[in-house]
Parts: sequence; C-alpha cells; structure tokens
Amino acid sequence: MDLLFDDAAQSFRAEVRAWLGAHVPSEPLPSMDTAEGFEAHREWERIMAADRMSVVSWPTEYGGRDVPLLHWLIFEEEYYRSGAPGRVSQNGIFLLAPTLFEHAHPDQLARILPRMARADDIWGQAWSEPEAGSDLASLRSTATRTEGGWLLNGQKTWSSRSSFADRAFGLFRSDTTAKRHRGLTYFMFDLRSPGVTVRPIAQLDGEPGFAELFLSDVFVPDDPAKPGDSGVIGDVDNGWRVAMSTAANERGLSLRPPGRFLATTDRLVEAWKTHRDTVPSTANVDARVADAWIGARAYELSTYQTVSRLAAGGQLGTESSINKVFWSQWDIAAHETALDLQGVDAELDDAWTDGYLFSLSGPIYAGTNEIQRNVIAERLLGLPRGDR
Ligand SMILES: Cc1cc2nc3c(=O)[nH]c(=O)nc-3n(C[C@H](O)[C@H](O)[C@H](O)COP(=O)(O)OP(=O)(O)OC[C@H]3O[C@@H](n4cnc5c(N)ncnc54)[C@H](O)[C@@H]3O)c2cc1C
Repeated sequence: MDLLFDDAAQSFRAEVRAWLGAHVPSEPLPSMDTAEGFEAHREWERIMAADRMSVVSWPTEYGGRDVPLLHWLIFEEEYYRSGAPGRVSQNGIFLLAPTLFEHAHPDQLARILPRMARADDIWGQAWSEPEAGSDLASLRSTATRTEGGWLLNGQKTWSSRSSFADRAFGLFRSDTTAKRHRGLTYFMFDLRSPGVTVRPIAQLDGEPGFAELFLSDVFVPDDPAKPGDSGVIGDVDNGWRVAMSTAANERGLSLRPPGRFLATTDRLVEAWKTHRDTVPSTANVDARVADAWIGARAYELSTYQTVSRLAAGGQLGTESSINKVFWSQWDIAAHETALDLQGVDAELDDAWTDGYLFSLSGPIYAGTNEIQRNVIAERLLGLPRGDR
C-alpha cells in the first residue's frame, strides 16, 4: 500500500483534528465505571454522533461517514492524541457492530446501528461464565424455544460496563444434545428485561467496572416472518462462527487501534525527556523507550497491512491472536518504563498509574495470552496439540 496519505486522507485528518480541538472536554470526565461517569461518557458519545464523528467508517444511513478503514485509523490516531474520553460504547461499536456487518439481517442493522451510533443503546459483552472463560465452548447458559421467541437462562460474569449498560450480546446453548462449539446461538438481549438481575463487581479501584448477570426466563422475541425483529444474530445453533467474528475484531483490529499506542509512546518520550537524567543507568530506560517507540510503529505498519488486506476483500483470521499478544505485552512494558522513569513520583501520576493497572489486565481480556499462544502454535504454526 501507499504509505503517503493522499489529499482526501490529509484533509480528513485536518477536519478530525480541528473538531476534536473544539470539542474535547477540557477536564477529564468522571470514570465511566461509575453511574455518573457512565452517563457523562454517553453524553460525549452523543456530541460526537451529532457531527457524525462517533462511527466514521460506517455507512451514512447508520450514522457514519462511509470513509475507508484507513481513514478510521487516522481518526483513532487523532482521537488518542487529543486526549479525548474513553469510548463507553466500545463493546457495541468495536465488537458487536463488525459482527453485525458480517452476519446480521439488513433489518437488524437498520434497527440496531443508528441507536448504537448515538449511544441510545450502550452494549455489554455477556460471554464469560463462572465455569467458562478460556474454555468458552463449555458454557452452560441456555436458550430454549418458547411461543414467539426464546427464553434465556443462566449466569454470565466479568461483563464490562454491564452495571450501567442497556443491552448485551452473548452465546447460549440452544441445542443441549450438541457438544462444545456446536449447538450454540448468538443472542442480543435487553439488560432491563424482566428476569435479568445485574450485580456489579468492584474492580481493584473499588469501582463497579464489571457485572455479573443472572438470567431467569428472559424472553427474546424471534419472529421468522420479521427477521429484523430477531434477537438472534446469524443462524440458530451456529453461534460459534458468529462469535469468532467478534473475537477476531477484538484481538486483531477494532478494539486496539495503533493510535492508542502511538499516543502512549508520545507521552512516554516526553516522560523520558523530563526524567532521563535522574534515572539510574541500570534501569536501561533509553533502550526501553526506543523499544516502545519501535514496537508502536511496527504495530502501526502491521495494522495498515491488515486494513489494506481487508480493503482488498480479505478477512481477519487467527493471525489476530498474534496481534493480541503483541499489543497487550507492549502496553505493560511501556507503562512499566514510564513508572521507572518517574521513580517514586510515579505514585502521584494518576494517568500512568491507572494505565499501568489496566495494562495488567491486557493479557487476560479478549482471550488470555496463554490461549492465544495455543492458537498461534496449533493453527498458525501447525504444532501438535498439547495435553489438555
Ligand atoms: C479487564 C477485563 C475485562 C473483561 N471484560 C469482559 C466482558 O466484557 N465480557 C466477558 O464476557 N468477559 C470479560 N472478561 C473476562 C475474560 O474474557 C476472562 O477473564 C478470560 O477469558 C479468562 O477466563 P477466566 O477468567 O475464566 O480464566 P480461566 O479460563 O479459568 O483461566 C485461568 C488461567 O489458566 C490459563 N489457561 C486456561 N486454559 C488454558 C489452556 N488450555 N492452556 C494454557 N493455559 C490455560 C489461562 O490463560 C489463565 O491464565 C474480562 C476480563 C478482564 C480482565
């Protein structure tokens, strides 16, 4: 691909930069893992949506600008560089939406996406269960046919943002006679439906960033005459295939665009300029900052390659697992370097300290790095399966 941006890309960058300069709140919003902060972040999403800045690569009819994925990467670079608020809609716009574009009925797109773009519906991901995390196919929550739809039952856990979110998407066993990856169906349901109990779980910082979800006969309509009204994405009993589309986006592209890491690198270089003379040479910070810089740029180039492959009709695949291991490890190393640069002062710096604590979860969410290494070993390198 041509790495020199054309006029259209450059003018898009200038427009996004100017818009963010005029609109990014001057003070950080309260944490989105609190009720107040969640609504403040929803309001920010609405400000973006009003100017079609919330989902730039989507078709215009759903609230986007129909720009190519390459422009979306530019948007993300500018977004992170500007210090704009975190995206409370990220589960919807970065995980569910790409899945819908690939698998949903057009009526479902029309019904769901405009509301998602405006943050009228903020989504939680209801995949993990108490006994099914890495081994997601062992999940036990069920979907049973009933008059006019389905009844969902079971328990989900570690659902980010679901303490305050409006709707959720997850996998349920629809055929109890089928084993493992077969007989699962991908559902969307309302977190305020009768039968849903949301129990917040406090994170390290005490804020309810996660929720446990208890589902008891939660009704999801499924009218075959009006597929757009259905809460099922893709075919019944074929949910694993749909879920792999979500996972590939989560690991391989949309959840962690390079702009995030480029912005962290810029901050790291600034910290290095300020503190490099006071850090003991044993901390080896010069080389670690250089490594972070190289890693962020390597990730940027690799993402451009992914995006040009997708633009040429390709698909995300198991190579997404390599991405996921790379960005999650990079994030920890960059934050550790920043803390080492600041020495004891680091404890006074909330941005780096909070970022460091969050980076530690990177090797766990979106599928643990041990599991990604299994995928890389078995499916990409063709190594024999280990004993399980
Ligand atoms: C910040 C954060 C946000 C999250 N958000 C969500 C969310 O929104 N929705 C959601 O559904 N879930 C979410 N999760 C949950 C996450 O998906 C799970 O924690 C993850 O899949 C691991 O599952 P587990 O916690 O049950 O650990 P386990 O599966 O019990 O694994 C425990 C350890 O054993 C290792 N292990 C397990 N099996 C193997 C194997 N075969 N080979 C080698 N090692 C193995 C794992 O790598 C891990 O280190 C989130 C987690 C975090 C940390």
